[in-house]
Amino acid sequence: MYNNSRKKTLEEIPLVPTAIWSCTDENCRGWMRDNFVFSVVPVCSLCQSEMVKGEKMLAAVTNTSPLQIKL
Ligand SMILES: [Zn+2]
Repeated sequence: MYNNSRKKTLEEIPLVPTAIWSCTDENCRGWMRDNFVFSVVPVCSLCQSEMVKGEKMLAAVTNTSPLQIKL
C-alpha cells in the first residue's frame, strides 16, 4: 500500500467573465483588462496593433497588472 495523502497546493480561484481588450494580431497574445482602459481604443503594447473588446474568464482578483501576457 502507498500513502495517498498528497497536499493540495493549488487553491481554487473562481473564474468570472471579465471585460477585456485583446490584440487583433493572431500571432500576439497581448490583452488587458477593461478596467485599465480609458475612453479610447487601446493599442497593444506588444505589437502596437489595435485591440478589440471581448470577454475572458479570469480569476476574480483585483490586484493585477494592466497588461497580462499568457504564454
Ligand atoms: Zn499585440
